[in-house]
Amino acid sequence: MKQLEELRGVGPKRLETLAKNGITSLGALLAALPLGYVDALNPTPIERLTEQVHCVEGLILESPRRHYYGGKSAVKARIGDGSGVLSVTWFNQPWMSSQFKKGDSLLIYGKVGFYQGMANMVNPRKIQRRGIEPIYRAMPGLPGKTFSALARQALDSMTDECAETLPQWFRDNYGLCGKRFAWEQAHFPQSQTLLDQAKRRLAFENLLLYQAALLAVGQRGQAGLPLKGQEGDLNRYWSALPFSPTDGQRTALQDVFDDLNSGYAMRRLLQGDVGSGKTAVAFGAAWLAARSGYQCAMMAPTEILAQQHAASAAKLLSPLGITSGLLTGSLGTGERRAALGHIADGSWQLIIGTQALISDTVSYQNLGLVITDEQHRFGVRQRQALAEKKGGEAQAHMLALSATPIPRSLALVMYGDVEVSLIQEKPPGRLPVKTRVVPEGKRSQLFDYILAGAKRGEQCFYVCPLVEEDEELNAKSVKETYQYLKKGPLKALRLGMAYGQQDNADKTHAISRFAAGELDMLVASSVIEVGVDVPGATIMVIEDADRFGLAQLHQLRGRVGRGDKESWCFLLGQPNDRLQVMTQSDDGFFIAQKDLEQRGPGQFFGTLQHGHGLPDAFGVGDVRLIEETTRCLKSLAQDPKQGPFLEYLTGLSRDVFGSVFNSGRH
Ligand code: ADP
Ligand code: MG
Repeated sequence: MKQLEELRGVGPKRLETLAKNGITSLGALLAALPLGYVDALNPTPIERLTEQVHCVEGLILESPRRHYYGGKSAVKARIGDGSGVLSVTWFNQPWMSSQFKKGDSLLIYGKVGFYQGMANMVNPRKIQRRGIEPIYRAMPGLPGKTFSALARQALDSMTDECAETLPQWFRDNYGLCGKRFAWEQAHFPQSQTLLDQAKRRLAFENLLLYQAALLAVGQRGQAGLPLKGQEGDLNRYWSALPFSPTDGQRTALQDVFDDLNSGYAMRRLLQGDVGSGKTAVAFGAAWLAARSGYQCAMMAPTEILAQQHAASAAKLLSPLGITSGLLTGSLGTGERRAALGHIADGSWQLIIGTQALISDTVSYQNLGLVITDEQHRFGVRQRQALAEKKGGEAQAHMLALSATPIPRSLALVMYGDVEVSLIQEKPPGRLPVKTRVVPEGKRSQLFDYILAGAKRGEQCFYVCPLVEEDEELNAKSVKETYQYLKKGPLKALRLGMAYGQQDNADKTHAISRFAAGELDMLVASSVIEVGVDVPGATIMVIEDADRFGLAQLHQLRGRVGRGDKESWCFLLGQPNDRLQVMTQSDDGFFIAQKDLEQRGPGQFFGTLQHGHGLPDAFGVGDVRLIEETTRCLKSLAQDPKQGPFLEYLTGLSRDVFGSVFNSGRH
């Protein structure tokens, strides 16, 4: 088998690009699977086009022409296939005008739109030949075609035997094709059937190894620190709070109490819709740990959220005599040193923070409980690293909080083997958030409503469109919207803004002024999605709502309706079935289910996946396959004869997922 640098077309520069993307061997190159496929096997006749993604084959009716609109170039062409005519525009690709001429045949793929009865495509993708074409993740200096050529060479230099990772008997048992064949079909699919076989093989192995690694990392039923809880503890905790717990909160904390006292390590996932009061349960767990002399670390996905938790911990837990403090990346040197001191000598019993909690310089005096908030935002590596901070034999207890309900099989791959507590109700007195879809023409009425609300002292979140995954563009969109509103329709109001890339001090300042009622409106990117608690806010406006997943819209909407006043959520965009779901239900679990149904688990996962440990690969969202591999692994684990094979799989999983699980301690 060749080395990567022996491939034609791979010089030092490409080698570096590949390495940056985690590709340092031929195997890793082939394992970098296409993100998706364009099905250009059966082009659609133009007369049968609908408003979705299609592949079209036709002849160029007249040579393409180049136009300019305010510095932007546009190449326009018309294509006919005998059944109709399609108009095509490429923006900012002036070279397209010299790529083809009248009479050339062209195979293209893209989203079809209609304008004045005429079908059109904007920036379609040109397809080389009829077939199934892979789409690769863009890497600078390495276009998809080049990547294909490298994959070809890699495959040619490899025998079936040296590619194979799973023994024949196992493949026969589970109906899996050979690995080299799977790679061949994944990169150069010959038919949908063969591609499906390839996907199954690669996804099966991927999920199997991932779960084997999870199994090795931590299981239920392992020895944990036994805490010395007493019966009166729970009542004492609840009666110290300013509110009485809901039944769900009470039961959840009872579950935690039982786990902590069982002698086994707790692995519990606390699920509850936004606003159901998960934090109070988490603090109760921290209190129980502190009662037995253990520290608790609580990790939140954003700095803002960590700060909010720290503020409410100070308020709720100090009457109970629990000391707490904050550790985030933005502390000054002096503050940081002081914080590290309090953590190391145990004078802080509850430490709240961001990922800074897992950095190597933090050492805990006596860590017994690890809580992660909005769990799905963290990768396995980060969670595990935090748990390992404990040191010693017995495992730290783990409690994960999540507002996103997922089927148990998905929980298995995301969290490993956990038990689940569910909070089903919300604290009493909450009114459901009324939700309306607001089409473009009604915008000025919306602004009037916001202005009137502000007069009554009601505050408003204004969430800007989600611009791809690009932080910079998101920042720009927030700034532009802010300027527009401030100068124009809402100049009478006190506005602030918050977005991901903003200077931390500015962001915190804006959010705390908003929380204190000193601002009428916070123009924000979806950074406010997680957790921010501002009881005075009653209006939520979401621009271009269709760009968000339903589960995410529900999270955003959960930022209002926290006080006792009636709250409204306005979704800007054209009414459609998807957005209508939001107006019909206030139940996060129902909405997540709809989201899953409408988009399929793959996409649903996509929006949850930020920082998630599972590498993008086939199978991540395939619930049935997850169940199948879970069963497979279970039966291997139960069969003593399979011990060596299981060990082999675990070793393999360490190679594959090493970067995911390796926390620097082994
Ligand atoms: P989430 O589950 O979304 O994390 P939070 O823990 O942030 O929800 O709670 C939302 C709000 O509800 C907070 O302001 C909290 O103080 C309040 N709250 C929590 N439990 C109760 C309760 N039992 N009664 C009244 N208010 C409560
Ligand atoms: Mg929360």
